[in-house]
Amino acid sequence: MAAQETVDQKYVYDFSEGNKDLKDLLGGKGANLAEMTNLGLPVPPGFTITTEACQAYLATGREPDGLAGQIEAHLESLERAMGKRLGDPQDPLLVSVRSGAKFSMPGMMETVLNVGLNDQSVEGLARQAGGSTGQAASGGNDRFAWDSYRRLIQMFGKTVCEVPGEEFEQALDKVKSTKGTTNDLDLDADDLRGLVDAYKKIFLKHTGREFPQQPREQLDLAIRAVFESWNAERAVLYRRQERIPADLGTAVNVVTMVFGNLGPDSGTGVAFTRDPASGAQGIYGDYLANAQGEDVVAGIRNTVPLQELEQLDKTSYDELLGIMARLEEHYKDLCDIEFTIERGKLWMLQTRVGKRTAAAAFVIAGQLVDEGLIDLDEALHRVNGAQLAQLMFPRFQLDHEFQPVAKGIGASPGAASGTVVFTSARAVELAAEGKSVILVRRETNPDDLNGMIAAKGILTSRGGKTSHAAVVARGMGKTCVSGADEIDVNVPAKRFTVAGQTVNEGDVVSIDGTTGKVYLGEVPVMPSEVVQYFEGSLDPEHIDNPLVRAVHRIMTHADGKRRLAVRTNADTGADAARARRFGAEGIGLCRTEHMFLGDRRELVERLILARAEGEREAALAALLPLQRADFEQIFREMDGLPVTVRLIDPPLHEFLPPLEQLAVNVAVAQERGEDVAKEEALLAAVRRMHEENPMLGLRGVRLGLVIPGLFAMQVRAIAEAAVICARGGGVAKPEIMVPLVGAVQELETVRAEAEKIIAEVVGDSGVEVLIGTMIEVPRAALTAGQIAEAAEFFSFGTNDLTQMGWGFSRDDVEGAFFWRYLELGIFGISPFESIDRDGVGRLVRIAAEEGRAARPGLKLGVCGEHGGDPDSVHFFHEVGLDYVSCSPFRVPVARLEAGRAVVETGGSDSR
Ligand code: ADP
Ligand code: MG
Ligand code: MG
Repeated sequence: MAAQETVDQKYVYDFSEGNKDLKDLLGGKGANLAEMTNLGLPVPPGFTITTEACQAYLATGREPDGLAGQIEAHLESLERAMGKRLGDPQDPLLVSVRSGAKFSMPGMMETVLNVGLNDQSVEGLARQAGGSTGQAASGGNDRFAWDSYRRLIQMFGKTVCEVPGEEFEQALDKVKSTKGTTNDLDLDADDLRGLVDAYKKIFLKHTGREFPQQPREQLDLAIRAVFESWNAERAVLYRRQERIPADLGTAVNVVTMVFGNLGPDSGTGVAFTRDPASGAQGIYGDYLANAQGEDVVAGIRNTVPLQELEQLDKTSYDELLGIMARLEEHYKDLCDIEFTIERGKLWMLQTRVGKRTAAAAFVIAGQLVDEGLIDLDEALHRVNGAQLAQLMFPRFQLDHEFQPVAKGIGASPGAASGTVVFTSARAVELAAEGKSVILVRRETNPDDLNGMIAAKGILTSRGGKTSHAAVVARGMGKTCVSGADEIDVNVPAKRFTVAGQTVNEGDVVSIDGTTGKVYLGEVPVMPSEVVQYFEGSLDPEHIDNPLVRAVHRIMTHADGKRRLAVRTNADTGADAARARRFGAEGIGLCRTEHMFLGDRRELVERLILARAEGEREAALAALLPLQRADFEQIFREMDGLPVTVRLIDPPLHEFLPPLEQLAVNVAVAQERGEDVAKEEALLAAVRRMHEENPMLGLRGVRLGLVIPGLFAMQVRAIAEAAVICARGGGVAKPEIMVPLVGAVQELETVRAEAEKIIAEVVGDSGVEVLIGTMIEVPRAALTAGQIAEAAEFFSFGTNDLTQMGWGFSRDDVEGAFFWRYLELGIFGISPFESIDRDGVGRLVRIAAEEGRAARPGLKLGVCGEHGGDPDSVHFFHEVGLDYVSCSPFRVPVARLEAGRAVVETGGSDSR
């Protein structure tokens, strides 16, 4: 974005001019400081330099015209208001210069405190600050002033001039050890004066210049450093991981300093208005007496729980609690805050709507409804499917005996235990023996793919949320902890060391892909409470678990709101039953492949090898009753609900043994002088059926057109099963789905044959069988108007549609190069994970519109994996589909998101 620069553009806003809705312009920190100011809360006066000024600076390398003058004007009015001048030798005004982007980027950018101090004003500050209780100095507070000055040189040196921070820390440690203490409070004014000298030398050594004494120069350089910190390496990395756009820029806040380091009646702290981990109500915070803000986070001294402030300073404590309640009521959400107490006077330095865990998100949304702060629509808006999915992963049953030995990034959720291996090959070997393995690597690369597939979980010592390991693991739904850098991996030696312990190949570890924690040994797992609730084993009305109660309440609301129905992909009665408990309203995809597997393989071989007419028919006749029984079971579990059955889709040779194995069998049998006629026939068949691109070969409807009787057998099995259910008093609603159709003629041919069989089987049983098609070949989407003439429903097979739309071989590309595409930002997320709205989504939209135009009652659904992806569900709602179908475990996620989609589009039915 090229920043707009106009002559009289406003770049600087006083806190009294902004508000919380101006985050784009003022950043989160600035917008909320303004909001608090306008609420009448005690915020030290100040002003915010806009993100637009930052964008202009970053684009041109210089401050935009007019900025300097506006800063001057705002500084002057600040000085007037405070009755002090910046850096005045007698009584200096000091300010902090703080970064603050639209999205919070904790610790990523810079802040400089105590700007305005120099060799003269430090004396003035000491004199003005005199008389603190507990201060020995008569008439002045030297210690405080010199402490503030050394902090300025340290922070300014580090952030503005890139002086290595360790050098300052080492100098501080040296003074402390000379003094025989580890507590910085034991240092007196003389020690700190000496430290300032040492710091200045460090500054000079690294920058080649003296520490700047001009207050205004300090201010300008600090502002510029904050602008530039937007492009610091770690900030760039963080943005990429969190998908924060790179062109937003940061605002800069210039805030009058208030001092928590003025003595024991001063201090600083941070707090949450509720527990961000569990959502529980109460006061959660830390307080540190006689300190400046950065000490709390830096962990220099041990903080005390905020509750203890009540004893130290009851007036400030009560005021703080009142403000926190007020902020919650105002923001109608969990807030986190930073505050400072200067000699018994409370100052608010920051607030924002706080980050929270998935569990806390649900619990808090429920509480806020109870408190009348938000309604259920808003509660639904504030949680999401990704959070719900997290709450459904099995979790470790952790009791005190399990302590994590390392913590990395929770890259792909889940809880996995297994034997440690260090190579892909070993992972494959042990997995073949039936062992659970955890693949441990420094980082993974495409060569590790087989091992990753074989492993139960993946642990790496390097790489973030978009590393190869993380992306591939998420794609596979596999537990992954990445970037656990305390772990030292030694692949050749087949071991890693962590926290002084050595873990060898063969030892067992457990990894938690949600928290990123790593444990030694096997931690037992259990289904989460939320899953127990969905399974129906917890009665939501009589449960005191606040999380389950909140989930129940919000899910119920989502169900009431949503327009999309949610079905499931299920191939067996057992899957169907579970999905139904999870709220599925039918089956959107029942694959029939497995009905040709197991001990039925032999029949498939006979079918494929059949030469004489009768042989094939006999094989099909033998398959018919078996498939019919399968369908019966599924229809019974889904009694009263629609069941979409997809006719056989994969290439038939997938049902035969692999070529190599057959070749070996033949050779061995020949060696032994056994009869190899059948083996040889199979081998010949496999050779004959070999395809270079099986995904684009003889599969789907093409099989049905080429192999006589195959689809007919399946259609008959479905219709007969439905009739049996109906005669038994049940209601079966079969929908026969033809895969891989690209032209209406294909469907018409299948339909003509199927209709005859159905009419014959159904008779007067009252059973109704729909016939429809998948839309998964781009040509089908583009000729949907024609295809709709022969279809009572469409189901979008967005996996194949993505594969063929992008020309991505699904089995190959994700592990091979998607990490690079993600790194380059070609897409933000794999198009197999979340639908590509612009391309593949456009095909869906065209087909939906043209299909409905040709046949107004056309039923539309989706059965690709996108059916359970939150963002895709919103898209399918917008396009006006009737239902989404997804795997059983995603059903609750889809229900929730379908409800959210309605709330977010203003409750409108967008069809
Ligand atoms: P971050 O975004 O990393 O938290 P902040 O800009 O909030 O950085 O500042 C770092 C610390 O300095 C915080 O603890 C904050 O409360 C404190 N601080 C910032 N400005 C002032 C000020 N004007 N007076 C006193 N403390 C301040
Ligand atoms: Mg802060
Ligand atoms: Mg398909």
